[in-house]
Amino acid sequence: MAPVIKLNSGYDMPQVGFGLWKVDNAVCADVVYKAIKAGYRLFDGACDYGNEVECGKGVARAIQEGLVKREELFIVSKLWNTFHDGDRVEPIVRKQLADWGLDYFDLYLIHFPVALEYVDPSVRYPPGWHYDGKSEIRPSKATIQETWTAMESLVDKGLSKSIGISNFQGQLIYDMLRYARIRPATLQIEHHPYLVQEELIKLAKREGIAVTAYSSFGPASFLEFNMKHATAMTPLIEDEKIKAIAAKYNRPPSEILLRWATQRGLAIIPKTTREEIMKSNLRSVEFDLSQEDIDAISAFDRGIRFNQPSNYFETDQLWIFG
Ligand code: NAD
Repeated sequence: MAPVIKLNSGYDMPQVGFGLWKVDNAVCADVVYKAIKAGYRLFDGACDYGNEVECGKGVARAIQEGLVKREELFIVSKLWNTFHDGDRVEPIVRKQLADWGLDYFDLYLIHFPVALEYVDPSVRYPPGWHYDGKSEIRPSKATIQETWTAMESLVDKGLSKSIGISNFQGQLIYDMLRYARIRPATLQIEHHPYLVQEELIKLAKREGIAVTAYSSFGPASFLEFNMKHATAMTPLIEDEKIKAIAAKYNRPPSEILLRWATQRGLAIIPKTTREEIMKSNLRSVEFDLSQEDIDAISAFDRGIRFNQPSNYFETDQLWIFG
């Protein structure tokens, strides 16, 4: 049986899922279909990934062919920053559901704790970070409380079974727990041996919030953005210490990195377009690392975060996130 994590909302979430960031539109429907065939049931999408229509087509084909039923899938999507104003949340979720061809999401997350001015989907979709589509950053006045209250009404209306957050840090989580009528079911964070996030994971565990790890292979996801601290580092799957641990278990280094995360209790959502890699990533829960090896991998921690908004902008625009 594929392992699941029990959420505070009462639902079971598969511990191993499939990420949809940077899956090209041209191949996306096929990739999703093949991933379902390979055994994936959780798909991690977002407005910002710009491929929700194609993801929906892959799901529809798999359902049509009888590979899965809708209720066996766990579809995750995310609220983009430009839709944080309370009255913008429900309309955009309805659009995203229509794009997927679904009646409900299993989990819907606030993608970043960053509120930007509304951009109408008829002007540009997905809107991205910049108001003008080029360089201008325009904040919105929406607080997280305003946005979370609107997220809670999605559960009331049956548009999402569970709701959660992504890229939130400890203080903000404590703040929202003071007013949340529905607690976040999950927290999705960057997590790899260079960013172990020990304290944040402890906090989430204490508060009954499940944690999903993204970018499990560290710098690998960020090389294409030419981020200097990503290109300057040894790729984790080529690191000699990781390779030595992998050899002990007769597993590829990628499975070692994924197992390190799942044995810490986290869910994972790696992405690949190659079927043999899809299967390998799923198989990563089929063996156990020793505590000694888990500790050796955790000792890689350097507190290096690649996916922070300021890494994508010119320095004179950093004020908004400071
Ligand atoms: P990833 O772990 O999916 O992939 C990083 C790179 O490693 C990709 O090039 C991938 O093709 C490759 N890869 C995958 N499996 C491999 C294997 N077994 N061996 C060798 N290479 C392999 O990283 P990611 O895309 O950063 O994150 C995964 C998912 O997490 C995304 O698709 C997205 O759904 C989610 N995500 C969320 C956020 C957020 O802000 N909430 C940010 C980034 C990613």
